[in-house]
Amino acid sequence: MEKVGHLINGDVLFDQSGTQPIYNPATGDVIRELMLAPRDTVNEAVSVAKAAFPQWRNQPAIKRARVMFEYKRLLEANRETICQLIGQEHGKIYHDAMGELQRGIENVEYACSAAELLKGEYSKNVGQSIDSWSEHQPLGVVAGITPFNFPAMVPLWMFPMALVCGNCFILKPSERDPSASLYIAQLLKEAGLPDGVMQVVQGGKEVVDTLLEHDDIEAFSFVGSTPIARYIYGKATEHGKRCQALGGAKNHAIVMPDADIDNATSQLLGAAFGSSGERCMALSVAVTVGDDAADALISSLTDKVASLNVGAFDDDSNDFGPLISREHQLKVKGYIDSAENDGAEVVVDGRQVSVDGYPEGFFVGATLIDKVTTTMQSYQEEIFGPVLQIVRAKSMDEAMAIIDAHQYGNGTCIFTRDGEAARYFSDHIRVGMVGINVPLPVPVAYHSFGGWKQSLFGDLHAYGPDAMKFYTRRKTITQRWPSAGVREGTSFSMPTL
Ligand code: NAD
Repeated sequence: MEKVGHLINGDVLFDQSGTQPIYNPATGDVIRELMLAPRDTVNEAVSVAKAAFPQWRNQPAIKRARVMFEYKRLLEANRETICQLIGQEHGKIYHDAMGELQRGIENVEYACSAAELLKGEYSKNVGQSIDSWSEHQPLGVVAGITPFNFPAMVPLWMFPMALVCGNCFILKPSERDPSASLYIAQLLKEAGLPDGVMQVVQGGKEVVDTLLEHDDIEAFSFVGSTPIARYIYGKATEHGKRCQALGGAKNHAIVMPDADIDNATSQLLGAAFGSSGERCMALSVAVTVGDDAADALISSLTDKVASLNVGAFDDDSNDFGPLISREHQLKVKGYIDSAENDGAEVVVDGRQVSVDGYPEGFFVGATLIDKVTTTMQSYQEEIFGPVLQIVRAKSMDEAMAIIDAHQYGNGTCIFTRDGEAARYFSDHIRVGMVGINVPLPVPVAYHSFGGWKQSLFGDLHAYGPDAMKFYTRRKTITQRWPSAGVREGTSFSMPTL
C-alpha cells in the first residue's frame, strides 16, 4: 500500500502516530495509507520553518516572486498528474479538476506581482527634514488548514501569497484526499523554494490542535465547515494568533418571473450538481418568485436533472462523481429522506442510483426537490451533495428576506432581465459574493473571496488583495537625519508641526 507522508525540510517523511485509510470514492477501495503526524513531527516542522524564516524574509520580493513564476510553469506542466490525484481520492471528474487547478494557478499568477503588492507608502517632509514610510512585514510562520473539496485550489488560495510576502508556511491538508496537496507542495522545491520554507504535516484534529497551541505560529488560514471554523477561530485568537476561518454555506439563487428560464436552467444545473454539489459556492436552493416561475423552472429542469451522468472521474462524459465517503453518502440520502418526510416533493430522486462497474462507489444521483420550506432541516443545514431544492416565494422582497434570514451568507445569485431589481438585490442582500445571471460568483484571483454571517469568522477575506494584508503586518517608520551641528532642544509636549 502506497504511503502518504509529510514534507519536512524538503524531504518526505513517514513518521506516524497512527495511520488512516484513503479511499477511491468511486470504487470504495482503500488506495493509500495516510501517516498521521506525531506531535514531535509537527513541532519539528514548525522549528524548521522558524529557522528558515530569517533568510527567506530578507530575500528581495522580486526574488520570491521569481519562485512563483517557475512554480506556475511547473503546475501547468504537471496538470495531468495533479488532476489524476484529485480524481483518485476526491472523485472529481477530470475536466472539473482541471478547472479547479486553473483557478488555483491564477492565485500563483497574482502572487507573481509581490514586488508591486508589497510596495509601501512614503511621505517626504512630514515635519522639517522628517520623512515617514509604512511597509508590510511578514508575520513569521503561518499555517493553513484545508478542506477535502478543493485539495489543490484552496491550498493555492493560501501559500503562494503567504510565501511571497516573506512568511514560512505549514499546510495541514484534508486527511481524506491529501495526495494532490502534498504533490503541489513538493513542486515548490523544484521551483527554487529553499528547504524549510514550506512544510506539510498530515493528520486531523490532534495535528491541528498542536499547531493552534504552538507559540511559534503567528497566523491561521482555515477553510472548512462552520463548526470547525468557529472552533479554530476561537482557539487561534485565544492563543493570540491572527485568524481567518471560512466556513460552510447554503447558496440561494432567486429566479425572477422575468428570468430567461432556459438560461437559468442550464446555469443552475452546473452550479447545483457540478462536483456533486460538494462546493462551498454550490447553488443548492432556487427561490422562485411566483408560482409561474416555479412551475416553468421545475418543468424545464426535471428531464435534464434526471439525465445527468454520475460516474468515475476518468470518464469525461460524466457530469459529476461520487461523494467523498460512505458516511457522507448516507448523510446526503438522510437529508433527502427528511425533506420527503417533512412534506416536500421529491421530483427527481437520486437515492437509488447505480453506476455500472462501480457497485461499491459512494454515489448519489442528481436530486430535485420542490415545495421545500424554511422550517425543514434539509433547508436549514448545508447538505453538500447533488441536491437542488426549490423554495417558492410570492415576491422578491419575500425571496430576499428568506436569504437574509439564513445562517449562511457565502454566495448568491439572481436570474432576471430587470437591471433595477438586480441592482437593488446586489446592494441590499446580506451575502458576501453576489452573481447577477452568474451562478458561481467566485471572485477572480485579484479580488478576494469571503462570505458573511456564519460563512466567515475574521475580518479579512481569502486570497487577492486581502491576502497581502492578512499575511503581513504594517510598520511605520519616521526618520530624521539632523544636519551636522543642528540640534533641537528637549520638548515635553506632544510633537506638532
Ligand atoms: P471539515 O471542517 O470537516 O474539515 C476541514 C479541515 O479541518 C480538515 O483539514 C480537517 O482535518 C480539519 N478538522 C476537521 N475536524 C476538526 C476538528 N475537530 N478540529 C480541528 N480540525 C479539524 O470540512 P470538509 O468536510 O473537509 O470540507 C467541507 C466543508 O468546507 C463544507 O462545509 C464547505 O462549505 C466548506 N468549504 C468552505 C469554503 C469557503 O470558502 N467558505 C470553501 C471550501 C469548503
